[in-house]
Amino acid sequence: MSLPTPVTEAGRTGLAALLSDPGQALLAMDFDGTLAPIIADPDQSRVAPGGLAALRAVARAFGRVAVVTGRPADWVAGTGGLGAVPGLVVLGQYGAQRWTADGLREGPPHGGLVAVRDALPALVEGRQARIEDKRLSLVVHTRGAEHPDAELATLVGPLRALAAEHGLVAHLGRAIVELRPPGFDKGGVLRGLVEEYAARAVLFAGDDVGDLPAFEEVAALRERGIPGLTVCSASAEVAHMAERADLVVGGPEAMITLLRDLATEALPSG
Ligand SMILES: [Mg+2]
Repeated sequence: MSLPTPVTEAGRTGLAALLSDPGQALLAMDFDGTLAPIIADPDQSRVAPGGLAALRAVARAFGRVAVVTGRPADWVAGTGGLGAVPGLVVLGQYGAQRWTADGLREGPPHGGLVAVRDALPALVEGRQARIEDKRLSLVVHTRGAEHPDAELATLVGPLRALAAEHGLVAHLGRAIVELRPPGFDKGGVLRGLVEEYAARAVLFAGDDVGDLPAFEEVAALRERGIPGLTVCSASAEVAHMAERADLVVGGPEAMITLLRDLATEALPSG
């Protein structure tokens, strides 16, 4: 076992801070593409082999472990299996939902969702696209289309316009556009978690453009004297993400290995 060395000075400082006082550290990470391999049917998605054991290990070793995802929080905890990790908190739908062992909490749905939900079927008609209703947000998927990126490109403009008309924001992801209420992104979620747990060091790991606001929040936290480490779970699909991180691992299986090694290093007896 040996931990990889972050490529940036700030990342090396962040890693050292995480390990020097793990009890005051927050580890936050994305689910799809970071802990779980991306597969065609998202309902079948599960953490990579050894993932639950690794998450239990970091949950024991570090002050707080959070999963921050676009998915419904209760799906991640239930079908996704992460509810079996003691002490884990899951922020779902970009912070609109919060799951802990005590249950699920969420605010009321945004008023613009009703009109957007009604208008979407006509907008995607004849396209190789699928609508997913996440209740607190709406997603258009082009994975499975002959040319997912080209199909997505034709839809982005109309989807942005529709979202704006009803007070929502269109966010791009891996073969998806998600229409969500304003104010929900992973940067805001991470900031809230750091404040709530008074974290003195932070790690954020992600694989997709939806994780960039959290990477930017890590940079902002450093400015405020809270060291941090950003980790990219790399993929060919989102190759540019790797340039934005302090540390790059080769996908979910390597991410699981990193978590296990972090736990071992933080808690040598554990
Ligand atoms: Mg992801």
